[in-house]
Amino acid sequence: MRFSSNTNKLLAKFKNKNLLIHNIDFLKELKFKKITVVINTINKANISNFDDLEIIKGGKTRSESVKNALNKSKFKSKYVLIHDAARPLNSQKIINNIIKNLIEKQYDCVVPFSKCSDTVVVNHKNLDREKLKLIKTPQGFVKNKIIYLHKINKNELTDDSQLFRNEKNKYKIKYLLQNEINLKITYKDELNSLNKLIRNNFLVGIGYDIHKTKKTIKNNFIKLGGVKIKSKIKVISHSDGDVVLHAITDSILGALSQRDIGTYFPNTKRNLNRNSIDFLNYALKKMTFRKMLINNIDIMIVSEEPKINPHFEIIISSLSKLLKTNKINITIKATTNEKSGLIGNGDFIACWSNVSLKVN
Ligand code: ZN
Repeated sequence: MRFSSNTNKLLAKFKNKNLLIHNIDFLKELKFKKITVVINTINKANISNFDDLEIIKGGKTRSESVKNALNKSKFKSKYVLIHDAARPLNSQKIINNIIKNLIEKQYDCVVPFSKCSDTVVVNHKNLDREKLKLIKTPQGFVKNKIIYLHKINKNELTDDSQLFRNEKNKYKIKYLLQNEINLKITYKDELNSLNKLIRNNFLVGIGYDIHKTKKTIKNNFIKLGGVKIKSKIKVISHSDGDVVLHAITDSILGALSQRDIGTYFPNTKRNLNRNSIDFLNYALKKMTFRKMLINNIDIMIVSEEPKINPHFEIIISSLSKLLKTNKINITIKATTNEKSGLIGNGDFIACWSNVSLKVN
């Protein structure tokens, strides 16, 4: 899908800001003092907080926009760098190299390019890709020369260095090989996949829960991981006391930096004897909203009673369904506390959960 014509692609989000702001911030980091933004949808750009840049309204075409900016800019300088803000992967290295070639080597036009690694076909025939140069921005120019060339130009351009190539005998042109990725965002899907790449690929969270238990004479039930298991103890809890689900829920909320169960489900009447699957689903909803899913989960249950070993399979199956993840991503370990302390006495049951989430 192409960016629709009524959405200025420079206002599309890359990382946590739009492409335009991303570029401005980068140039400011490099201590650029004179930045001219050429844009049509100025109001929406939200760049009023930058006081040392000028905004010039773009023209109908790219060439017209650049020409407008060069003629109307109030900034005085000997050199100018022109950049397509749709390229968010700026490189300090290439910018320094352009400036060096302009000032020290006295080139009129310095243009970065990358080699073409794909096979290129025109009318069913392969072009010799070794000869191809994929032209990038930013490009550097001697300002009065590019102003003159734009003034006499009548054709639409896809980049400004073309003006110098048209008069290649009159001007000194330097092509700089750039091996870093310098993608121009044209399609929404490109921006989506770029955002996916740079997003934190993994989030990790830890959860812990402990509940008091009561020995019972008759056989009773305890809930672990959403499974009802026969037990000689009863868990004392405001909710259904499923320590496994409570620990998992907290670990997912933790991975998402979203506090803990108690924040969302306090000990109110409404949550009395509440099914812990509700808590888990609440955390999973937040996880889905962030476009994350379970990568793996490691659970440790500490209890004297019930013995967990006979119930591993059924608990893992239950968790696999609840967490919508393959069984292979879930591990449960169980240990006793060697009869020591309150857990060892059988007065408490505890559970740790470590979860990692990945980008969906
Ligand atoms: Zn709990």
